[in-house]
Amino acid sequence: MEKVSVLIIGSGPAGYTAAIYASRANLKPVLYQGVQPGGQLLITGEVENYPGYSDGVNGPEMMEDFEKQAKRMGADIRYGVVTKVDFSKRPFTCHVDDEHLIQADTVIIATGASAKWLGIESEKRLNGAGVSACAVCDGFFFKGKEVAIVGAGDTACEEATYLSKLCTTVHMFIRRDTMRASKIMQERVLQTKNIKVYWNTEVDEILGDKKVSGVRIKNSHTAQKTEIAVEGFFVAIGHQPNSDIFTGQLDMDKTGYILTKPGSAQTNIAGVFAAGDVQDKIYRQAVTAAGSGCMAALDAERFLSESKHH
Ligand code: NDP
Repeated sequence: MEKVSVLIIGSGPAGYTAAIYASRANLKPVLYQGVQPGGQLLITGEVENYPGYSDGVNGPEMMEDFEKQAKRMGADIRYGVVTKVDFSKRPFTCHVDDEHLIQADTVIIATGASAKWLGIESEKRLNGAGVSACAVCDGFFFKGKEVAIVGAGDTACEEATYLSKLCTTVHMFIRRDTMRASKIMQERVLQTKNIKVYWNTEVDEILGDKKVSGVRIKNSHTAQKTEIAVEGFFVAIGHQPNSDIFTGQLDMDKTGYILTKPGSAQTNIAGVFAAGDVQDKIYRQAVTAAGSGCMAALDAERFLSESKHH
C-alpha cells in the first residue's frame, strides 16, 4: 500500500497553501483535489481583496496560480476524491475514489464548504433547468430575462448586483425585514433600479414543469401567496462544510464545522489537521483559508518531527 507522510484533502486556498509549505519542508505531500479542483473560487468572478494581486484576479486564474506554485515546490497533486477515512490508528488509512488505498502519517483536511439549498422538491427537480446556486456561472443564460434570487447575505447581494447587469429584473426574496449583508452591499442592491426587494418573503415553490417558469412566494406576515414569472432562480443562502466523511471520527459543531484547537489547526485526533472553510464559519475568505493552510502544514511538520523523537 502506498504510504505518505502528509496527505492533503482538498484544493482550495487552504489545501494548496498547505501543499506549498509541506513541500518546502521536504515532506513530499500528496494532495487529492476532490470533485471541484480549485474549490469555491472556481465559481467566483473577480477577486479584489486577495493581497498581492493589485489589479484583482479571476477566481479560477488565482487557483491555477496556487496549483502551479504548489507543483513548482514539488507537491504531488492528483485528481481524485477521498471517499472514506479511518483515523482510529496511525498511520491513517484513506480510500480514494473507492478503489485506491493510501496510508498517511498526517492528514490535512481542506475540503471547504458547499452552497446550501432551500430543500424544497421543485428546487431539486429543476436544478440545472433554471435553478442555480452560482450567478457568476449561470447568469449568462438569463441575459435579457427576469430572474429571482433568495438570500440576504453578502453573497446574495453580490449575485443580485451581478444579475442586474444581465437581466431585465431581479426579484430578491428576503425572509426577514432586514438583510444580513454588509451596509455597502445592501446599499448597492437597494440603489439598483432593476432589483426588486421583497421583505418578509419566503419561497413557497419554484414553478415549472421541465424548466423554471416562475416562483410562488409567501408573505410571512399576511400568509398571502403571489406568483411571479421568472426563468431563472438563484439560491444564495450560505454554505455548509464538506465534512460528511469525517462524521463520528472528528469533533464537529452542530452544523458540521470541524473543531480545531484555538490558535492551531489541530483536531481532536493527533496528526489530523483541518484548515480553511471546513473549520471556519466566521471569516471564510481566501486569504484566511490560505493562512490556516499554512498553519496546518507547520503543525503537521512539528507533529512529524516530534513523533520521530519519541
Ligand atoms: P450568510 O450566512 O452571511 O447569509 C446567508 C443568508 O441567507 C442570510 O441572509 C440568511 O437569512 C439567508 N437564508 C439562510 N437560509 C435561508 C432560507 N432557508 N430561506 C431564505 N433565506 C435563507 O452567507 P453568505 O454566503 O452571504 O456569506 C458568507 C460569508 O462570506 C459572510 O461572512 C460574508 O460576509 C462573506 N462574503 C463576503 C463577500 C464580500 O465581501 N465581497 C462576498 C460574499 C460573501 P437570515 O439573515 O434571516 O439568517
